[in-house]
Amino acid sequence: MPPQPPRRRYRRLTVIILSGLIAALTAGAGAALLLVHQHVRQLAHPDAHSELWQAYQLRAELERSLNSARQVLAGKSDSDALATRVEVLASLLPPLRTTPVYNYLVVPRPEVQVTLETIQHLSDAWLRRAPWGQPAAAKVLAGEMLRELPPLLEPAHELVVVTNIALTNYMDAERQDLQRAFNLLAWVLFGLGLCSVLLALRVIANSRRKLQLTQRLHDLNQSLEQRVEQRTQELSERKALLRYILDTSPSDVALLSDEDSRAHYVSPRLLQRTGIHPDEPFTLHRLFDDPDEEARFRQSLTDHGQLDSWETRLAGNPAYWAIVWARKMEVEGRPASLVWSFDINQRKAMEQELRLLATTDPLTGLQNRHAFVKRGVALLKSAQRYERQCAALMLDIDFFKPINDTHGHAFGDAVLQAVAKELTQGLREVDLLGRLGGEEFAAILPETDLQQALQVAERVRNSVQALSFTSEDGSRVRLTLSIGVAARREGELRLEDLLARADRALYRAKAGGRNRTETAPGL
Ligand code: GH3
Ligand code: MG
Ligand code: MG
Repeated sequence: MPPQPPRRRYRRLTVIILSGLIAALTAGAGAALLLVHQHVRQLAHPDAHSELWQAYQLRAELERSLNSARQVLAGKSDSDALATRVEVLASLLPPLRTTPVYNYLVVPRPEVQVTLETIQHLSDAWLRRAPWGQPAAAKVLAGEMLRELPPLLEPAHELVVVTNIALTNYMDAERQDLQRAFNLLAWVLFGLGLCSVLLALRVIANSRRKLQLTQRLHDLNQSLEQRVEQRTQELSERKALLRYILDTSPSDVALLSDEDSRAHYVSPRLLQRTGIHPDEPFTLHRLFDDPDEEARFRQSLTDHGQLDSWETRLAGNPAYWAIVWARKMEVEGRPASLVWSFDINQRKAMEQELRLLATTDPLTGLQNRHAFVKRGVALLKSAQRYERQCAALMLDIDFFKPINDTHGHAFGDAVLQAVAKELTQGLREVDLLGRLGGEEFAAILPETDLQQALQVAERVRNSVQALSFTSEDGSRVRLTLSIGVAARREGELRLEDLLARADRALYRAKAGGRNRTETAPGL
């Protein structure tokens, strides 16, 4: 449960405390009512505190017994009447003797108990001798009673007075108790009323607060709904805008799930290129032309989380060169890959063309000097590393200038192309052949020693010598080659050194009369 704010806690505490107080006060009021009820019931009981009446009765009965005794002695009354009086007198005493009324006296009066004891004692004795149908015994008893009873009249009167005082005290005490109980009840009821009013006020305040809060919550909800609606609209507009930007972007975009073949987004042009229907599954696998390349791409993306400017061939109709960027990301909490690709087919073709232009001699299609030297250096390095043989040929057409001069430049070009073709055919695939300039060619022959190179040189020299051209004027033109051969020396690292030696051999071949092959000295 979230922690409640202090004000709310305070309000709840108030209600709890007030409810507790009301419960306690209600219990108190119940107890006070019970107390009052007990007092009232005690006071309202008809037999309760009839001591005064009994005292009067006793006093009167003493008078009546004395009169009855006088009547018996005077012969005016019979014995049974006296016996009846004795019985009545004896019956009046027990309630008075056991009454607690005398406990309420402020000053104790022991003579009261003595009076009661005396009367009890006498009446018990007289009761035992009750003269039923015995006139003689009645006279004896009457005589005794005439003696004993008169002194008791004054104490009996005193008994009435004391009983009256005691009863008054008792009643005062009871009244005061009752008043206290009433006061208590009144206070409790007042407290109860006060707490109830406070509780009612608190409950009303709480309800009003609750109503206000409900209203505010309702208002908040409404404004929140409006804002959500507004934001949703904004979002959908931005989403549409974003989608338009992506759809019309010159690069292709795909947002692909890494867990299944679900594509969150694939730009229409990419679908068009790959020929995949929008409802079909789309994975990285379908994007790549080469599975090995795809594996490398995936690995690199997993390792670095992103890839920039990755050039590769993508699958399509037809497959095409593209430059690819990729990012690992999450869509709805699930891993995904965002892939941007840009078609660089045209650029690749241009690059290829430029590379060809930069490395190839346009007339013969052979490697130009720059490319020849570059690849020649690599071949020489490889031969050096693996300690293999390697040889170089320098070839120059003999007396080419007169051919040019006699038959024209175009004829000379055709001759150069034919010689290049002948040389290409005369060499192996692994051999490197280039046109260094004019009518001068060079070749690097890997895995070839001086002797083998010499044989190759002789073979091509003979095949070129066998060529025959017909000029525009119908005359037949033949030509020869002078060739210089050199084999790589132990520890010879520089191509230019090897070529220089082959060139010197060529020079010797020229000097030696042309149409021949000369070798450079081995050391
Ligand atoms: P040598 O036997 O001493 O080698 O004599 P050469 O005439 O062959 O040698 P030279 O260096 O004197 O002449 C080379 C000629 O090649 C000069 C030039 O007119 C010609 N040439 C150079 N490049 C081209 C080309 O691309 N096309 C044509 N048709 N001729 C070219
Ligand atoms: Mg020449
Ligand atoms: Mg030359």
